[in-house]
Amino acid sequence: MLELRPTCENCNKPLPPDSLEARICSYECTFCATCVETILGNVCPNCGGGFVTRPIRPSKNWKGDNYLGQDPASTIIKFRPVDPETHARFAAAIKTMPPEKR
Ligand SMILES: [Zn+2]
Ligand SMILES: [Zn+2]
Repeated sequence: MLELRPTCENCNKPLPPDSLEARICSYECTFCATCVETILGNVCPNCGGGFVTRPIRPSKNWKGDNYLGQDPASTIIKFRPVDPETHARFAAAIKTMPPEKR
């Protein structure tokens, strides 16, 4: 199950389960859209992969207890800000490739 992390790993902005700004990589590293676009260049600082919009888990029990009430968001904050210069060096070659070619 996807781990719905509570904040942006870089700027610690709250990203509640219904946030449209949450972005995740395939390892569920979670950032806000602003950090992905302006600082990360769509390169995950932990794995080099690209980001997609985090899906919204339903807040209502539409079917089979598959909803936030049964499977709530994580409350464990992962706040690991990137150093912009270090990330720029790491991402320089990677960001020119689309995620599907990395
Ligand atoms: Zn952020
Ligand atoms: Zn990642």
